[in-house]
Amino acid sequence: MVTPLTCRNYINGQWLTAVAGATLESRNPANKREVIATFPRSTGTDVEAAVVAARQAYQIWRLVPAPARAEYVFKVGELLSKYKEELAQLICREMGKPIAEARGDVQEGIDCAFYSAAEGRRLFGQTTPSEMPNKFAMTVRMPIGVCALITPWNFPIAIPCWKAMPALVCGNTVIFKPAEDTPACATKLVEIFAEAGLPPGVMNLVHGVGEEVGKALVAHPHVDLVSFTGSSETGAEVGSICGQTHKRVCLEMGGKNAQIVMEDADLELALDGAVWGAFGTAGQRCTATSRLILHQDIKEKFTAMLKERTSKLRLGAGSDPNTQVGPIINERQLQRISQYLDIARAEGAKVLIGGKIATEGELENGYFFQPTILDEVTPQMRVAQEEIFGPVVALIKVNSFEEAISILNNTKYGLSSSIYTRDINRAFTAMRDIEAGITYINGPTIGAEVHLPFGGVKQTGNGHREAGTTTLDIFTEWKTVYVDF
Ligand code: NAD
Repeated sequence: MVTPLTCRNYINGQWLTAVAGATLESRNPANKREVIATFPRSTGTDVEAAVVAARQAYQIWRLVPAPARAEYVFKVGELLSKYKEELAQLICREMGKPIAEARGDVQEGIDCAFYSAAEGRRLFGQTTPSEMPNKFAMTVRMPIGVCALITPWNFPIAIPCWKAMPALVCGNTVIFKPAEDTPACATKLVEIFAEAGLPPGVMNLVHGVGEEVGKALVAHPHVDLVSFTGSSETGAEVGSICGQTHKRVCLEMGGKNAQIVMEDADLELALDGAVWGAFGTAGQRCTATSRLILHQDIKEKFTAMLKERTSKLRLGAGSDPNTQVGPIINERQLQRISQYLDIARAEGAKVLIGGKIATEGELENGYFFQPTILDEVTPQMRVAQEEIFGPVVALIKVNSFEEAISILNNTKYGLSSSIYTRDINRAFTAMRDIEAGITYINGPTIGAEVHLPFGGVKQTGNGHREAGTTTLDIFTEWKTVYVDF
């Protein structure tokens, strides 16, 4: 076993322990005996120090020309490329996803760095005619101030990068509060920002428990913006505190994403999409396919194909190149998934395959759940409505295209969606009528690209979009300027 990493906070360019001195630890979810890192259990005192540092640094950083700010971010991209394999291996050990997916997680961070850095030479405003003679009118983008970035554990490099890169290029300073399960990944990421030479106070890291340090950041009067990704329950709380303290807040939350398979679909293609969408990252993606809406004419055949493919999936540690489905992040989440299986059975769903905590051989050392298919699910069942966040997919039979769309829309979430059909009219109708931030035609519900807007409708989001140029609307304020001459 490797010696655990000692993580620290990063405040004003210094690596510090928490003032109160308490620590917590993260463990390998594939081998719970292995401690990956110890990290500070920070308190309001540490938050205060980070906010003071970020506020002071903001007064300098906002005046650095955007192309020069972007050069730092470009350098971060280069360093992420240099350390890609090291970071991917760390993701495997601390978060558990298979190595190929972990490399993809880091690659998203790299792509985001280079994409955001290029924005440093654009950040376009507009010039417009004025109503008055001898008057010039224009708009410019201004930074917002101190941004708190609160992130989950499922994409421990990509999600912080999606937030930090544009925030910095736009001239804001950052306080990053990572998830409790992945402090080592967060620390390595911030080490890279430090190595890129960012001035002290521009990027700060405060570890700790969400209810404590996250809450303190959200409530702090000198934090100007909160960018949060996590569950809808926590997001609602964060949003409400931001409302009371008049802060801008960007919320990226849960999903109950569905893939529709129509009777005219390419079933092999739809099968690839369903397996990858439902069981990739052990179903622990906000965009995971947790409902399969199947037309009655292909339901039996497709279900048999899916069951067969699912039975062959190999569970294991992310670091094993043969692993297709990695562990669940922690004991609490494993038990939560297990409880949803009890609910499914009680509601009358049929467990077609899986349905249990996996304990064969080495799996007993970690938190593994068998890839699970629930059949005979009806749209109102809790397992068809609530986010499970595990390798569990619910099959729902429909008689028509219209019914499929209606059931897909029948949840409180609206992040990702997919339809497999060879009918161009159905494809475009689905694109128009599906209530979701993202719709894939003949592709799985997962697979976002960094240059396109990402986010959801209904209780998945609050109207913002990360990635693409739309992220600039999160991290800048518009200023209108009139010049008389
Ligand atoms: P979570 O809500 O438990 O935690 C997310 C972050 O919020 C963590 O850093 C946590 O420490 C912090 N936090 C917890 N309580 C807080 C509080 N009261 N105040 C401030 N911060 C607090 O979510 P999770 O279990 O880490 O992640 C899984 C969830 O994230 C799923 O619901 C998933 O769908 C969602 N997610 C959404 C997206 C998206 O882009 N829409 C992407 C990935 C994950």
